[in-house]
Amino acid sequence: MKSPVGVPPEAGQEAGQTVAELLRAVERIGVEVAGPAAADVDARGRFPQESIAALKEARVLSAAVPRALGGAGANPVELATQCVALGQHCASSAMILAMHHIQVASIAQHCGGSPELEAYLRRVVDEQRLIASVTSEVGPSGDMRQSVACVTQVDGGFTLSKRATTISYGAYAEDLLITARRDPEAAPSNQVLVLVLGGDFSLEEPGTWDTLGMRGTCSAGARVEAKGQAWQVLPEPFAGIATTTMVPLSHVVWGACWLGIATDAAGKARAVVRSKARAQPGVAPAAARRLSGLMTKLQLLRSEVFLAARDYSDLLARGDLEGLASLSFVLRLNNLKLSASQLTVEVVSEALFACGIGSYMNKSPFSLSRQLRDAYSAPLMINNDRIHETNASILSVFKGE
Ligand SMILES: Cc1cc2nc3c(=O)[nH]c(=O)nc-3n(C[C@H](O)[C@H](O)[C@H](O)COP(=O)(O)OP(=O)(O)OC[C@H]3O[C@@H](n4cnc5c(N)ncnc54)[C@H](O)[C@@H]3O)c2cc1C
Repeated sequence: MKSPVGVPPEAGQEAGQTVAELLRAVERIGVEVAGPAAADVDARGRFPQESIAALKEARVLSAAVPRALGGAGANPVELATQCVALGQHCASSAMILAMHHIQVASIAQHCGGSPELEAYLRRVVDEQRLIASVTSEVGPSGDMRQSVACVTQVDGGFTLSKRATTISYGAYAEDLLITARRDPEAAPSNQVLVLVLGGDFSLEEPGTWDTLGMRGTCSAGARVEAKGQAWQVLPEPFAGIATTTMVPLSHVVWGACWLGIATDAAGKARAVVRSKARAQPGVAPAAARRLSGLMTKLQLLRSEVFLAARDYSDLLARGDLEGLASLSFVLRLNNLKLSASQLTVEVVSEALFACGIGSYMNKSPFSLSRQLRDAYSAPLMINNDRIHETNASILSVFKGE
């Protein structure tokens, strides 16, 4: 594992935009670009082109590239803060940004000093290349630690064919990061992570993505046909990348996107309650009690996301590989995913009750239709049952806290 994201550059090294500047840009893009487009993105199930273009323009896509390579070197807390800011306006845009950051961090933290991979990260900075994730597969489905597809070596390079069930923004990404077995003889869990560059892959037999929510992520499945050169296979086994980066960072930044949705819904409920209170001064509206309950859950959700993000950032900053791989940290982050996804659905549902009919109507300014539909992706995006199953296995043997 290489030096973690968030480590300052040494003297003489370049530094890109500051994390604070990028956060201000994301906040502005949320208000001025992503929010105004969100209803149309949702209604048409279209890629949020304008949000992603604005994020590229503001150079947000290199936030997770180490500062030594020209990026902002944002740590998990800082990446999560961006996702909360954007998720309050367009959850699909926020989820696309979150997934991209996970891919960049996976390369940055596990490139093993490869000059080619470091040069690629500099290209991400210069060209603001968007990277999509191809872990899910027909067969293992959401079990990202098993693959059917394999890397096949050909003349100093490789070919790779994978039947992916779900590839968010695959048709709009410059590059892909794909899990696969190391070679045709490898066991399903003997996996590598492979960077495939635009022009070297095609998405065949694309499926559709006409879903309840998160419609703008455009996550249709496809058969990926790819080729590349040997350096594009990350040097570290995928098992370590998943344990120390891909899984924990996913749970942190996904949780942050869902916190954005819940914050948006709670904001609508608060506005409705305040307007009811103004209509009848001196009388606390009945909905205020409901609001009190949902605000308690929102606070729990916020604490859970940012405490886990802070713990994770601290472990990375200390380079504490043992802590990152420990069963207690795996449980901690799995519990974040379980509780954040559940609390998000609860907060948005209770906001619907607090707002009443106004939020049930699609065209109302207080409509919670999109937020509710987006929120329901959270327990399904790596099914909570699957995560409970993993925790159950760990808890059957693990004696620690
Ligand atoms: C908005 C969104 C975006 C996504 N984007 C991407 C992407 O960019 N790239 C990508 O690769 N994937 C993506 N996915 C897919 C995601 O990673 C999972 O593959 C998908 O959510 C299916 O998860 P699953 O296999 O855990 O559940 P499913 O395959 O849906 O599981 C089916 C059922 O089996 C049960 N089940 C399955 N396994 C177990 C188990 N071990 N123990 C107990 N019960 C079990 C569950 O109860 C579940 O109801 C996305 C999903 C969503 C919702």
